[in-house]
Amino acid sequence: MNILDYDILLEKLNSMKNITKQNSITTRLGYSIPYYTYGKGEKHIMFVGGTHGSEIISVDFVLNLMDKISNKKDIFKNINENDYTFHFIPVQNPEGFIVSTSAVRTLIPKNMEIDKVQKICKDYYYKYREDDINSKENPEDKSLKLHQKMFINADYNCIPNKHKLLKESIKSLYKVENFPKGSLICFRANGSGVELNRNTIYNPGINDIKQKKITYAKDRYNNIRNDIPGPIGVPCLDVNNFEYEPENKFLLKLLDKLHSEKKLCGCFLFHSTGGEIYFEPIFEAYNSKLDKRKQKDITFLNTLIANKYKESTDYKLALTKDEILCSFDGYLRVNYPGVILIELSKMGGNPIAPYGDIEGNYLKTIEENSKAVYNVILLLKSLKDKISKKISN
Ligand SMILES: [Zn+2]
Repeated sequence: MNILDYDILLEKLNSMKNITKQNSITTRLGYSIPYYTYGKGEKHIMFVGGTHGSEIISVDFVLNLMDKISNKKDIFKNINENDYTFHFIPVQNPEGFIVSTSAVRTLIPKNMEIDKVQKICKDYYYKYREDDINSKENPEDKSLKLHQKMFINADYNCIPNKHKLLKESIKSLYKVENFPKGSLICFRANGSGVELNRNTIYNPGINDIKQKKITYAKDRYNNIRNDIPGPIGVPCLDVNNFEYEPENKFLLKLLDKLHSEKKLCGCFLFHSTGGEIYFEPIFEAYNSKLDKRKQKDITFLNTLIANKYKESTDYKLALTKDEILCSFDGYLRVNYPGVILIELSKMGGNPIAPYGDIEGNYLKTIEENSKAVYNVILLLKSLKDKISKKISN
């Protein structure tokens, strides 16, 4: 088993036979976002991974789903491609993914024996956890973290030369601000240093930046500033001229199209660690103009999906207070029905801790979540059928 990187991802995508490559959008630094579909049915369901560059297992999981669904493997053997159209976006943020996985390669080369890989990832898991505990006890301690020390040699030079523009961009971000050594390992943002899930006009970080406040990320990242473009990332490039990043414009355009054609049944956004399900739309936080009836419908649908998903994973239903951060997924949730964010691995520590126990954590995560997805897509089909019946009567 190899921990995924961008080259392996492209190889795997190119070798898949039954999926159809679709046009997407090009990122600021010239990468096209991989976008594939399978099936020709009326019920459209989206799967998105890799919004955050350092969340390898989310990319891994969507890739795995693509393979299982399009090749009718395991529980997906009875899924009828005339019922559904599945939309797969395994890595929404290819730039961040290239940066973070290049940092991984400084310690874990391709084709390293699995026992060795597992050992490094487990060590990382413990260090990351200690960093979290320490940061809670001493929130002001901004010294180098244990998990960053493991990757202290990973600077912009670890990015292969074929990614010239991206490499230059990362080099210049680290020139402006002396971000901690080793912080490329957790490169969450895109190559311009924008955090895609903070990229809404409602994110409070925009006001902080306008007021020239110096802010830092939370917990084990508390030594990384997030008011300037960098590994954790700002909400947008220019706070006086808000713009969605191309990676988000792409999702918005696709969701808009499917929703306006009344085809959208659900959208799964996969993130990597925590074992949680974010499902509740917080309409007030985004000044939603939807009428109360439609708001109730979205809340009802999302609650059904979340509870069905929970059955196979035993993940926690996430608390609404976290939504006050006004994230991009929260914005999608108040505007489109059935948008759910899943934090996958119960073993925390981006990007490699989920691989610290292959049997007990990684494979279990893939299996349980595949089952949960299967159950939810059956649920979405029966709901849509019921609604169509009601309308035709
Ligand atoms: Zn994430």
